[in-house]
Amino acid sequence: MNSSAPWTAALAGHRARTVAAIARKRAASPAPIPNARGRAALRKIADLLDVAALAFETEPPPVVDGAATTRDVPTDARLALADAEREAASHPTIGFPPQFGQYVTQPVLDNDVDLPPSLQPKQPNDIAREADLFSRLFAVHAQLAVCTMEELTDALLEAAFTLHWKLAHLRNALRATATDPVEIPAPATPMALGPAHEEHGPVLSFALARKAPCHVSDDGRTHGADRMVSYQGATIATCEEHEAQAVAKARGLYDALD
Ligand SMILES: [Zn+2]
Repeated sequence: MNSSAPWTAALAGHRARTVAAIARKRAASPAPIPNARGRAALRKIADLLDVAALAFETEPPPVVDGAATTRDVPTDARLALADAEREAASHPTIGFPPQFGQYVTQPVLDNDVDLPPSLQPKQPNDIAREADLFSRLFAVHAQLAVCTMEELTDALLEAAFTLHWKLAHLRNALRATATDPVEIPAPATPMALGPAHEEHGPVLSFALARKAPCHVSDDGRTHGADRMVSYQGATIATCEEHEAQAVAKARGLYDALD
């Protein structure tokens, strides 16, 4: 480590390295979630965190009024953290909250670490589960805010990201039981559906750009479809009236592909 970096930056660099190790460990997990895209996202996040760590460890701090400031996030670190957060935001299944850069910058900026937004569960047991995870996360954040010892910092970061992981599992469980399609803008290509499902859940609908018949026909008489429903990428053209049937049919198609 370059001794020109202030102690606060050294702590931030250490946090970035620890979170990178957590991301790499998760990418190597044999569990079905994360999937291949999620693993790639975790590896990319880890690489970006390495870049941020190096910047914290080596960039000399700006001098203000003749004294080196301890409250500066180097540009390279800021950009790398922003890229890593974008990657996390577009892959919610990996269990890295979209604002996770706050964990890294805290020793330098003295910022809070926000709780992630609620998953808005509807069932009492899911509500209780989320409340329990949030309160444990809150307690970990309170300890992290005042922690300067490396070993304890590592243990607290591990605990925090394990809780985020559990929240991601809860989110996936809630999504898996959803049957109402989430409306999305029409994807530019069929390939864009994969990431859209990862972000919004297994059942999507979007406006149909060109004319197509609804999947339901009465005695060979067809009527127009105005939307497409997609169950994990298996798509069916339909109208408003037959949307629920289309979801069931798309799901059947998807299951048959397995
Ligand atoms: Zn119809």
